[in-house]
Amino acid sequence: MAEERATQVPLAFSGAALDRSSIDRRDAAWMAAQRSRAEARSLMLSERGLWVEDGRLLLVAPGADAVFLGLVGDRPLFAGDATEGEPDRGHPAGLREAATELSAEEAALGAYAASLLSWHRRHRFCANCGAPTEVVDAGHERRCPSCGAHHFPRTDPVVIVRVVDLRDRLLLGRQGSWPQGRFSVLAGFVEPGETLEEAARREVLEESGVVVDEASYMASQPWPFPSSLMIGFNALGEGEPRPGDGELEQVRWFERDEVEAAAAGRGEIMLSPPYSISRRLIDGWLADPG
Ligand SMILES: [Zn+2]
Repeated sequence: MAEERATQVPLAFSGAALDRSSIDRRDAAWMAAQRSRAEARSLMLSERGLWVEDGRLLLVAPGADAVFLGLVGDRPLFAGDATEGEPDRGHPAGLREAATELSAEEAALGAYAASLLSWHRRHRFCANCGAPTEVVDAGHERRCPSCGAHHFPRTDPVVIVRVVDLRDRLLLGRQGSWPQGRFSVLAGFVEPGETLEEAARREVLEESGVVVDEASYMASQPWPFPSSLMIGFNALGEGEPRPGDGELEQVRWFERDEVEAAAAGRGEIMLSPPYSISRRLIDGWLADPG
C-alpha cells in the first residue's frame, strides 16, 4: 500500500527523538535545574537563519532568555534568539538550506525552534489589549499581565493533496514564482469552519477545476514557513485541469513515466526536494504502480 510506504519515509522536520517534557517544563524549579546543568545546550537562530557548523547544529550554553525545546536523550535543549548578538563560530543557514545540510533529526529541531522563536518575535504585545506580554511555561506561552490573556504558539493547517485519475495520471501544478520547471501536488490553507477533507476538495477545485472524490489522510509534516502543519491527502480526481484562482501558472495531468523521469532527475520538470511532504506523496505514488 502506498500509504504504508509513505509513512516509512523518514520525516525531515519532525523531532521524533525529542521529549518535550510538556508537564515538567511548567515547574519553574525543574526548569531552573535543567537550564543550569553542565550538559544543557542551546541552538541559535538570528534573522539570517539557523546557525550551523561543519554540517551540525551549532550548540552553545543556553542564555537566560533561551526557550526550552525539550530533552534529547537526557540533554536539555534550548533555542536562543541570536539577532542581538550572533555567535562568533559557524554560519547562518536558511531553513531549506539547513534541511539539506543537517541530518533529518537536527533539521527538525531547527524547524521547531524557528517556529517557536518566530512566534515570540511576533507576539511581544497582547492581541487583546496591546500591553507587553511576558514569557511563561519555559517559552511555550505568553501571558498578558494587564488583562490576563493567555497566548499560545499557533500552527496553521495546510492541506496538500495528491490527486490521481482513473488513467493512472498525477495532477501537478506550478506557481510562477517557483524555480523554472518545478512542479508540485496542490496545497492550500484550511479556512475557518472547514474540515480537512472539505479544504482538500475546495483547494483542488479552486486551483485546477478538477473535482475530487473523498480525500483520505496520508501523512503530515510540520513546515516552519513560518508555522504551518502540512496535512497530506490522497484523492481520486476527474476533469480537465486549468489554472483557476490565479495561484497557479500551469496545472495538468502527468503520465507515470514523466513523473518517474522527473524523480530520477532527467525529466522536463523538477519535483520538490526530498525532505518535503510533496515529494514523499509523489514518491509513494511512484512506488505503488496501480
Ligand atoms: Zn492583554
